[in-house]
Amino acid sequence: MAILQVIKYGHPTLRKVAEPYTKDELDDKFIEDMLETMYKEDGVGLAATQVNVQKQMLVCSDRENEYILFNPKIIATSEQRKFEFEGCLSLPGLQASVPRFEKVIVTARDINWDEIEIKVKGLLAVVLQHEIDHLNGILYIDRADINTLTWTDSPVVDEQLRQKQTTLEEVQRIFTKKYHAKSDNLAFDKIST
Ligand code: ZN
Repeated sequence: MAILQVIKYGHPTLRKVAEPYTKDELDDKFIEDMLETMYKEDGVGLAATQVNVQKQMLVCSDRENEYILFNPKIIATSEQRKFEFEGCLSLPGLQASVPRFEKVIVTARDINWDEIEIKVKGLLAVVLQHEIDHLNGILYIDRADINTLTWTDSPVVDEQLRQKQTTLEEVQRIFTKKYHAKSDNLAFDKIST
C-alpha cells in the first residue's frame, strides 16, 4: 500500500471533469491506496481527481460506514439546504461555510460492480456532495459564502495568517508560491468543456 500525493488547488486536474470508470479498470491496489491516503490525511472523503487520476471514483467514511464508489451520481436531494463549514485536502489550511442539501440519494457502482443506491443524510450527505463535485471539476469554494473563507489554525498555515479571513486572490497567491513554485500550468478557475 502507498500514500498517494494529494494535489493542491491550482493543479489543472482539479478543474477537469473526470472520465467514467469502466469495470476493467477496477484496481484493488488503487482502492487500498485511496483509503489509506484518506485515513492518513484524516479526511472523511477523497476523490480520485485529488490524487491526479481523472476518473470518477471516490472513497468516503464517517467512521461507521465506508463507501468506495465508482461513477457516483446524485439522483435526488432534499429541498432543505444547510450551511456548514467545510475544508478540503486539496485546499489545506482553509475553511468556508457551504450550503449543502441535508439528504441526498446517490447511485453508483460498488467494488463488485453492482449498481447501488444509497440514501444518506448529515455528514455523509455533505461529504458525498463535496466529493462528487470534485469529479465534476467543482471545488467547495465555488459554492461557499466566500465572505466566510478563513485560514484555520493548522500548522500548514503561516502563523500570522491563522484564523484570519482571506480572499481567493490571497489564497491563489499563497498556493502558487507554496505548492506550485515549479509549475507553469495552473488552473484556479473552473475549466469549461
Ligand atoms: Zn475536497
